[in-house]
Amino acid sequence: MYPHLQVMRVQLSKYIVFALFISVAPDLYGQQTSGQKPEDTEVWEPVPKEVTPAATCGAPPSDAIVLFDGKNLDEWVSVKDKSPAKWVVADGVLTVNKKSGNIETKQTFRDYQLHIEWRIPADITGQGQARGNSGVFLASTGPGDDGYELQVLDSYQNKTYVNGMAGSMYKQAIPLANPARKPGEWQTYDVVWTAPTFDPDGSLKTPAYVTVFFNGVLVQNHFELKGQTLYIGRPFYKKYTTAPIKLQAHGDPSQPISFRNIWVRKLD
Ligand code: MG
Repeated sequence: MYPHLQVMRVQLSKYIVFALFISVAPDLYGQQTSGQKPEDTEVWEPVPKEVTPAATCGAPPSDAIVLFDGKNLDEWVSVKDKSPAKWVVADGVLTVNKKSGNIETKQTFRDYQLHIEWRIPADITGQGQARGNSGVFLASTGPGDDGYELQVLDSYQNKTYVNGMAGSMYKQAIPLANPARKPGEWQTYDVVWTAPTFDPDGSLKTPAYVTVFFNGVLVQNHFELKGQTLYIGRPFYKKYTTAPIKLQAHGDPSQPISFRNIWVRKLD
């Protein structure tokens, strides 16, 4: 065969394959959409409830339960005896009083969104876990339980075990980043807590999940907890339905931590 005829045959076969593709492709596409309209995939109900956002970022939206607005501790009690919380309120700020121990909300919650701001004192001393230690227990499940602690700590150039630094779920989840600000500056946690659920016999039905933004940076991304955040030992679950949110008085000899602008939105 003449070489130029061979070339022509190859080129011709390419055209035939391409032509076949062109003729079949519309049919394939048409099979996916034939008889369907854009309206078929529009969803109109249920209409989300209207929520008025706050005028400033971080302030409570219209449907939030305000847990601390800078004025008083009406929403809080002492964990040990359920008496009125005795932490210090001054200048719109709530400060740990280690003598009176941990405090928790009067109201109990299951699934929720939480906003809380905290500050390590500018003159903080100590190191590691003894430097600005507090904590936000996302479910305070009883005096004898550890609950589920989102750690509060000075993590600005303060070395400690990484599953115990600020933004960690204590001893379970290392934060995905360290956006800690310097001591003396206000910092924010925005949390989504999905409570664990249990069968009637107390066995775990679905685990707890937590998402946390620390100073606007994602540090926990729908993390599945293995149980309570224990100081010693492996985590395990213990049945609860709703629980208060607890703030930790860690009792270090160093300067106390402060909180402000605390609000929650129920999600269940
Ligand atoms: Mg702590």
